[in-house]
Amino acid sequence: MTTDIKEIISKLETIKKNFDNELSQTSENNLSEKLKIKYLGRKGELSSFFALMGKVSAQERPKLGQELNKLKIYFQGQIDKFTDASESKPKRIDFFDTSLPGLPVKIGTKHPLYQVLDEIKDIFISFGFTIETGPELETDYYNFEALNIPKYHPSRDLQDTFYISDDLVMRTHTSPVQIRTMESMEPPIRMIAPGKCYRKDALDATHSPIFHQVEGLCVDVGVTFADLKGLIEAFAKRLFGEDVKIRFRPSFFPFTEPSAEYDFSCVKCGGKGCNICKGTGWLEISGAGMVDPAVFNYVGYDSSKYTGYAFGMGVERIAMLKYQIPDIRHFYENDIRFLTQF
Ligand SMILES: [Zn+2]
Repeated sequence: MTTDIKEIISKLETIKKNFDNELSQTSENNLSEKLKIKYLGRKGELSSFFALMGKVSAQERPKLGQELNKLKIYFQGQIDKFTDASESKPKRIDFFDTSLPGLPVKIGTKHPLYQVLDEIKDIFISFGFTIETGPELETDYYNFEALNIPKYHPSRDLQDTFYISDDLVMRTHTSPVQIRTMESMEPPIRMIAPGKCYRKDALDATHSPIFHQVEGLCVDVGVTFADLKGLIEAFAKRLFGEDVKIRFRPSFFPFTEPSAEYDFSCVKCGGKGCNICKGTGWLEISGAGMVDPAVFNYVGYDSSKYTGYAFGMGVERIAMLKYQIPDIRHFYENDIRFLTQF
């Protein structure tokens, strides 16, 4: 190999050009590794020139050293730049190990309230009831008036109702769906209306400003209070088991006459008395009764021909009894530790 410094430098320039060319055509990371070996390796393009260091004259040696080092640093820098840039690019996956175990996927579950609601729906569907729905933002007429709750009736207490305007309220019960259903069809009617209701209650262990109700209605020729009792009993046994007993207590609602509240025997102690039933052996569930003929007049049914019963129940209340949940707030806090138990 020549020891003429000019010739050497010209050769080095050619090597640099070749390097630049090859690098510009390199598209993959592992090829930049190859360039590194080719130009900077122990048997690479530059190494033979370093070997010339001992052969050139003492005056020329620093010049050659400088040139070689400059080029070495340049090659290294270019290769590093290329590698950094290609590493930030998404890499092609050349290999996938199909024997690796998969990552576990966490699957959500249906909210406990809606599990109970589904169960309630299934029971009534099996009894021949249909599911009806209505708006949560209701007019005064459907929420009160047509249910025989005229203006200034005590149960319209401002404390209880979210008024949106003089005429619009967030429905305080699912009973308006009864009216809407009766307006849209003729008897026989067997329906339940599940859904959200709204009342101005402060959130505590047993109250929530939003809660879920299931309203039921049956209208036909010859429907009696005995039918209502039979239905509630059959429902209670399907939901809580054959040993559950029911009882009715006289009560008052504007839209039913006669009206009753119905209780189930305690699902925990079976009637002996415990902390859940506060020692009484009974659990209050909700209200029911025979549809007041005044309500039939609002929807244009002939009250001398048809009779009907209506009933309600709180879904939270039933879910709390079913799963023995002590605090209604658990349903709304979405604490994963609570929800994953169902
Ligand atoms: Zn009890």
